[in-house]
Amino acid sequence: EFISANDLASLLDVSVNEIISVCMSLGMFVSINQRLDAEAITIIADEFGYEVEFTKTDEEESEVEEVDSPEDLEPRAPIVTIMGHVDHGKTSLLDYIRSSKVTSGEAGGITQHIGAYDVKTDNGEKIAFLDTPGHEAFTAMRARGAKITDVAIIVIAADDSIMPQTKEAINHAQVAGVPMIFAINKVDKPNANPNKIKEELANMNLLVEEWGGKYQSQEISAKTGQGIDELLEKVLLEAEILELTANPNRNAVGTVVEASLDKGRGYVSTVMVQAGTLKIGDIMLAGQHYGRVKAMFDHTGKKVKEAEPSTPVQVLGLSGAPQAGDILKVYDTEREAREIANSREQINREQSMRTKKHITLDEIGRRLAIGSFKELNIIIKGDVDGSVEALSDSLLKLSKDEVSVNIIHKGVGQISESDVLLASASDAIILGFQVRPSTSAKKLAEQEEIEIRHYSIIYDAINQIKDAIEGMLEPEF
Ligand code: GDP
Repeated sequence: EFISANDLASLLDVSVNEIISVCMSLGMFVSINQRLDAEAITIIADEFGYEVEFTKTDEEESEVEEVDSPEDLEPRAPIVTIMGHVDHGKTSLLDYIRSSKVTSGEAGGITQHIGAYDVKTDNGEKIAFLDTPGHEAFTAMRARGAKITDVAIIVIAADDSIMPQTKEAINHAQVAGVPMIFAINKVDKPNANPNKIKEELANMNLLVEEWGGKYQSQEISAKTGQGIDELLEKVLLEAEILELTANPNRNAVGTVVEASLDKGRGYVSTVMVQAGTLKIGDIMLAGQHYGRVKAMFDHTGKKVKEAEPSTPVQVLGLSGAPQAGDILKVYDTEREAREIANSREQINREQSMRTKKHITLDEIGRRLAIGSFKELNIIIKGDVDGSVEALSDSLLKLSKDEVSVNIIHKGVGQISESDVLLASASDAIILGFQVRPSTSAKKLAEQEEIEIRHYSIIYDAINQIKDAIEGMLEPEF
């Protein structure tokens, strides 16, 4: 807690009544002399067009992410996500890699699905895989601020075509800036036509290497295993270019991949360790939950004592189930972890009553006024391709020096959950032209506070966006 409402009013040069009424509109009830916390001050100042900077005390400084010096960094294995259209073979590929690359001595017989696994290639190099195929999981994590994928494998069935979800997967990887490798699958089938797939990719401006482009591709069969070693080699090649490193000798940091309550064992979380080494006895914090690492298991169910960077482990000992995408961090003292857990719980409680975290058309004017608005990300869904393209072209032309308009995704069809997740991950608004969201997408949009605007006349859509980025939109009440 820092200063009172009264002090803040004089700092901002407004009346204390104005502060109080802003607070009320945000669902906070404060009195004149009530001291406000950092979160509240930031939000209130923002309402008046100010940006707040807090100077940190030494104690707070220690919370900030450690920066490793280059000599502490060691190479780490790549973390891979497999995406693509339904039935193109994502699960089969994940299963084939898992069963063929886990050394038999390692496996306790039963392989468990814990959300992630790691393998050793024939020449002894490690690769970690996220075991939830599909871009929904990928984007849901990204929406929570997690970035764990180094390389995306886009699976495309050679007896089919580039399908809507293939396009979405490519789009999601591109927006996230994650390099892609195309796995052209099912080449064992007599009607497989890999060249047709490469041609379709070329038509999307994605030229594969053998055709002079920059994208690696590999013909594979998730059924016979053909080409899979070569695919893994290409993943390693991509990883080499990325020069992936981490410092294994520090407190561990990772991302929660999944978490559940197990009747016998308590809360079980699968964590992808990204830096440092996670050890038995470490004090860890994820989301609002903390505790000591009681036990750890690899994906074969084998007990392990430590987990290095790019290693997925099941961890026992947290006081609750964090959410997928939460960051897990190790602290030196239990007190530290507990205090952060408590303050997070409080912030979460308060935040649920406060401002919008994502962009809306009405919000643009306010952000423009503060000078913090540079890009408007838009997703367009429409009933026919012609209108989607027309709308997209016209909106792109609205870009100007101060604000650029980006169409991060466009397509024909209903507004889906995946569109909302992408919007959430990229802070975008969704424009529906003659289409509506599905029930689940609508629910998710409410939850994530994503604005969906509906139009049936292209001209109306263009005018509203134009007004908004010129700061001229009349707020709707
Ligand atoms: P997902 O929906 O992308 O996870 O696809 P699946 O892995 O479930 O595969 C869909 C169907 O395609 C299943 O019946 C698989 O057995 C089959 N399949 C996947 N990969 C191959 C392949 O390389 N060759 C053949 N012939 N069938 C495959």
